[in-house]
Amino acid sequence: MDTKSESLTKYKMWIGGEWTEATSGAYFESYNPYTGKPWALMPRAGAADIDRAVQAAHQAFTAGAWPKMTASQRGALLRKLGDLITDNADALAKIEVRDNGKLFSEMRGQTAYMAQWYYYFGGLADKIEGAVIPSDKADTFNYTEHEPLGVVAAIVPWNSPLLLTAWKLAPALAAGNTAVIKPSEFTSASLLEFCKLIEKAGFPPGVVNAVTGFGDEAGAPLIEHPLVAKITFTGSDKTGQRIYETAARGMKRVSLELGGKSPNIVFDDADLDNAVKGAISGIFAATGQTCIAGSRLLVQRSIHDRFVDKLVAFAKTARIGDPMSLDTQVGPVTTPPQYKKVLDYLDIAKSEGATTALGGNRAEEFGGYFVEPTIFTGVRNSMRIAQEEVFGPVLAVIPFEDEEDAIAIGNDVVFGLAAGVWTQSMRRAFLMAKRLQAGTVWINTYRAVSYLSPFGGYKRSGIGRESGQEMIKEYLQTKSVWISMATEVPNPFVMR
Ligand code: NAD
Repeated sequence: MDTKSESLTKYKMWIGGEWTEATSGAYFESYNPYTGKPWALMPRAGAADIDRAVQAAHQAFTAGAWPKMTASQRGALLRKLGDLITDNADALAKIEVRDNGKLFSEMRGQTAYMAQWYYYFGGLADKIEGAVIPSDKADTFNYTEHEPLGVVAAIVPWNSPLLLTAWKLAPALAAGNTAVIKPSEFTSASLLEFCKLIEKAGFPPGVVNAVTGFGDEAGAPLIEHPLVAKITFTGSDKTGQRIYETAARGMKRVSLELGGKSPNIVFDDADLDNAVKGAISGIFAATGQTCIAGSRLLVQRSIHDRFVDKLVAFAKTARIGDPMSLDTQVGPVTTPPQYKKVLDYLDIAKSEGATTALGGNRAEEFGGYFVEPTIFTGVRNSMRIAQEEVFGPVLAVIPFEDEEDAIAIGNDVVFGLAAGVWTQSMRRAFLMAKRLQAGTVWINTYRAVSYLSPFGGYKRSGIGRESGQEMIKEYLQTKSVWISMATEVPNPFVMR
C-alpha cells in the first residue's frame, strides 16, 4: 500500500457481530466525487468473506436469539434502530455526501426520513396474520401462517445507498429473515457506519451482515451462495438480468428494482410555472442520478417553445458546486465510469441531431466529476438519448400533439418505472394515470416516495415492489397446516 493510502479512513466489514477485515487483507479506495480524490479504504471481500457472512446469517436464522424472538420483540428492535437513525441522521448524511457527492441539503432529509421504514415495518412485524381456511373435509382443521424465507442477500447501488438498504432491510427483518448486504463498491462507507447503529440497537450477531467489494468478486458469490434464499437487488437492468438468471438456477426468490426512462408529460392546460419546477426536480435534482429521473420531457406542441424558454431560464439559475454547501443545487456525478457515460451521451445526443438548448459539456471549473445541467430539444423518441438511461443531468425534450400521442410516446420505451403528468384537467389526470405503463404515476408532482406506498417497475424496470404493507409478503412464504380430528385414518389408497 502506498503512503498516500495511510492517511485514509480505514473501514472494517460487519460479519457475524464482529468488525473484520477481508480474509485476503486487501482493501480498495473510495473516492470523494467532489474532489475526485480517495478518502477511505474499504475491505475487498472475496468468496471466502461472502461465505463467512452467509454462514453467519444462516446461523443467526436457525439458532440463537433471533428465531426465538416474538414478532413484537423484532418490531421493538426495528423501532429502536429507527430512533438511532433519527439521532444520527446528520452524521450519516455527511458520510453519504462525502462518498457519493449528493447534496447535503437532500441527504440529511433522506437519512432522517429513512427512519420511517424501520418504524413502519417495525410496527407491521406483529400484524402479519395467517388465516383459518374453511375446510371442505370432515373433521379437519386447516390454517395458514407466514414464515420468513431465511438469508436475504441485499445488493444496492451507489445513488442512495442507505435509503435503498432501508427499503430492503426493514421488511426483511420485520418478517424474521436475516440479511447480508453488499453496497456498491463506489459508496460503501455509509452502510458500515450504519452497522454501528445495528450493533448499538442490539441485534443478535449475524442477523445483519455487511460485506464490501466489487460485483464480480463479492456480488457474484453472494447471489450464487446456496444458503441464500432470496435476492433483493437495486441497480442497472444489465446486472439485474444476470442476477435473475443466477436466481433461476438456484431457485431463489428475487425482487429487482432496475432503471428507468420516465416520461414527464406537460399538457397545454398545466400550470406552467409548476410544471417547470416539476421538470427541473425530475432531472436536475440529485444530478439526475435517480432511477425515477423524468429524463424524457414530453411537451405539448402548442406550448412547446414557450415552455422550453421558461425551463431553460429556470435551469440556468441552478447553482453547481460543493455538495456540502446548503446553497448548492446540482452536485457532481458520483463515479468516474458514470461521469464518462454521461459525457458519452452528450456526444451521442449531438451526433443524433438533437439541439443543445442548455449545457451540453463537462463543467470543468468545479473540479471533480461535474457536468453542466443539459437540455436537448428536437429529440425524437427513437433516438438513443430518448431510449437509454443516462443517469445524469441530461434532459431530452420531445414534442407531442395530443393525449393519444403522449400515451404512445410515453409508453414507447422498454422501461416502466415512473411517469409524471402536468395538467389541470381531472379527466386527463385519471386517463393518463390509467394508460401510462409505469409502477408510479405522479400528477402535478414528481419524485414523491413513501414507506406507505408500493414502489417498483413495469416492464424492464423490475420485478416486485418495495414499501407499503403488501410487499412484506415478498419476504415471507405461506405454510398451510392441516390437522385431522378424526379418530381413524380413512382409506389410505385414496387422496383426501
Ligand atoms: P450496477 O448494476 O452496476 O450495480 C449495482 C450493484 O450490483 C452494486 O453493488 C454492484 O457491485 C453489484 N453487482 C455488479 N455486478 C454484480 C454481479 N455480477 N453479481 C452481483 N452483484 C453485482 O448499478 P449501479 O451503477 O450501481 O446503479 C445505477 C443503476 O441503478 C441505474 O441503472 C439505476 O436506474 C438503478 N437504480 C434503480 C433504482 C430502483 O429502485 N429502480 C434505484 C436506484 C438505482
